[in-house]
Amino acid sequence: MLTIARKNLKEYFGYDHFRKGQEQIIERVLSGQHTAGIMPTGGGKSICYQIPATILQGVTLVISPLISLMKDQVDSLHQVGIPSTFINSSLSYHEVNERLMDLSIGEYKILYIAPERLESESFIDQLKQLPIKLVAVDEAHCISSWGHDFRPSYLRIKDLISELPSNPTILALTATATPQVKSDICSQLGIDEESAIITGFGRENLSFKVIRGQNRLDYISNYVKKNKNEAGIIYAATRKEVDKVTEQLKKLGVSVGRYHAGLSDAERTRQQDAFLQDDINVIVATNAFGMGIDKSNVRYVIHYQMPKNMESYYQEAGRAGRDGLESECILLFNAQDVQIQRFLIEQSTHDFNREKQEIQKLQSMKDYSYLETCLQAFILHYFGDQTNQNCGKCSNCIDQRSSIDITKDAQIVLSCIIRMGERFGKTMVASVLTGSSNKKLLDFNFQTLSTYGLLKNRTLKNVGDLIDFLTSEQYIGVTDGKFPLLNVTNKGREVLLNKVQVMKKEEIIVEATSTNSELF
Ligand code: ADP
Repeated sequence: MLTIARKNLKEYFGYDHFRKGQEQIIERVLSGQHTAGIMPTGGGKSICYQIPATILQGVTLVISPLISLMKDQVDSLHQVGIPSTFINSSLSYHEVNERLMDLSIGEYKILYIAPERLESESFIDQLKQLPIKLVAVDEAHCISSWGHDFRPSYLRIKDLISELPSNPTILALTATATPQVKSDICSQLGIDEESAIITGFGRENLSFKVIRGQNRLDYISNYVKKNKNEAGIIYAATRKEVDKVTEQLKKLGVSVGRYHAGLSDAERTRQQDAFLQDDINVIVATNAFGMGIDKSNVRYVIHYQMPKNMESYYQEAGRAGRDGLESECILLFNAQDVQIQRFLIEQSTHDFNREKQEIQKLQSMKDYSYLETCLQAFILHYFGDQTNQNCGKCSNCIDQRSSIDITKDAQIVLSCIIRMGERFGKTMVASVLTGSSNKKLLDFNFQTLSTYGLLKNRTLKNVGDLIDFLTSEQYIGVTDGKFPLLNVTNKGREVLLNKVQVMKKEEIIVEATSTNSELF
C-alpha cells in the first residue's frame, strides 16, 4: 500500500518524499487503524488524508471549521486531479442534494463539511447513505473543552461515527495539542492514545524572541525598515491598534496592508490576496487573519500585543517559515497586556471553570514572556515534548548579559509568601516587601512580619517584576482562580534551603525614546 501511496504523492502532488510523520500516519490509516496525528503548522497534515483518499474505494469525509477555505482547497484538489467537493451553508438545498447524489455514485473522492452540519439529523441520515471509508477531523483540538478553540458542534462527530454503517477509519489531526487535549481527542474519537503519532512540535527554522520594555512602534518601524524586502505578519489585538501600526508603516513608505473584522469582506479578500501574491510585503492584522493561510515565504511574525494563551501564540507565530527557511517570531511584551487579556477573559467567559482554565493558560503565556531560559524549550514542554535541549538561537539563548546571583532577594520574596500564609496575590506580597502602609495590609497586621519592608529600596513594580520572574522560572506557583494566589513550589523550597541558586540576567535600563510615539 505504501508503494502506491508514494507513487500517488509524486503523481498528484509532485513530491518525492513523505515528510516526517506523514508516512506512518498514512500507513496506519490505510490499514484501517484509527489514528491521531499531531504535527506542527505547515507540517503537511492535509496530505495525510488526501493520499489515502486517492487509494481508498469510497469517500473521505473531512470535517473542518475553515469554511472560507473549503472552496480553495477543493479547487486545488481538482487541479491536481483529485475530484472533491464541499457542502456548507453557502449552497442551496438543490445544490446540496446534487452533490450528495454525485458522491453516492462515486463522482468525488473527498467531501469537506463544517462541523455545524452535523447538528442536522437529516444531514446525518444523508451521510449514512454514502460509502464513507475515512473520516478526517481537521483542527481536532476543537473537540476538547481544554483546547483553546472549543467548538461544541465537534462533539457531534462521535455520534456521527457511531451511526455510519460503513465503519470508517478515523483520523484526527491537529497542530496544537497539550497532553490533556491529546487525551481528550483520543478518548472522544475512540483512538488508542498510545498510538498517536506526534512528529514533535519543534520548528527548527524558527527563532523566538521576546522584547520587553521597548517602545513597540519604534521597534516595529526599525525592524520592518531593516527587512523591507521580506514578507511579514504583524498581529495586533484590536482594530484600533491594527490601524495605528498600519498608518505608522505607511508613513515610512512600507508596502503594507491591513486585515480585521471591521473591513468589508471584499476589502479583506483584497488585502489577503495582495499579501499572498507578494504585492505587499507586510500585513498588519488581528487574529482573524491567517487560519489556514498557506503562504510559505513569511520571514517574520511580530506580535504587537501578547495573545491570550500559548496555543494561539504558537499557531500564529508558526505562520512564519513554512518553507523551512530561517524565520523570526517576535513577541513585544508589555505588562499591561496581561491585564487586558484578563479583562477580555472575564468579559467573554461566563462559566466559572472555563474562566479558571483560561486564566491558567494566560499565566503560561505570561510565564513565557518573563522567561530567561530557552523559549523554544518552554514551548515544547508546554505541548508535552520533553526535550532538554536549548535551541541556541532564541533571544534568551543568545542573551549576552551576564547573570547575577539573586538568591538572597529570591529567599526574601519566598519567605514573605510563606509568612503571609500563601493566601495572597502579587500586589499584596509586593506591598509587604516594599513596606507599604496600605490599609488592607495593616488590617492583616503584616507590618509585624519580619519580611515587612525588606525590599523597601525598590518600587512596587520592580518587586512585582521579580515575583513574575520567579513565577515564570517556577519558584513560585500560582493558584488558578479569579484571584491568583502565590505559593512556594518545591523548587522554591530548595532555594529557601540554600540548595538552589537563583540567577537572573542584569537589567538593561532602557532610555526613553525621543519619538514618544506610543501612548499607554
Ligand atoms: P498543515 O495543514 O499541516 O499546516 P499543509 O497540509 O497545508 O500543512 O501543508 C503545508 C505545505 O507543505 C503545503 O504547501 C504542502 O503542499 C506542503 N507539503 C506537504 N507534504 C509535503 C511533502 N511530503 N513534500 C513537500 N511538500 C509537502
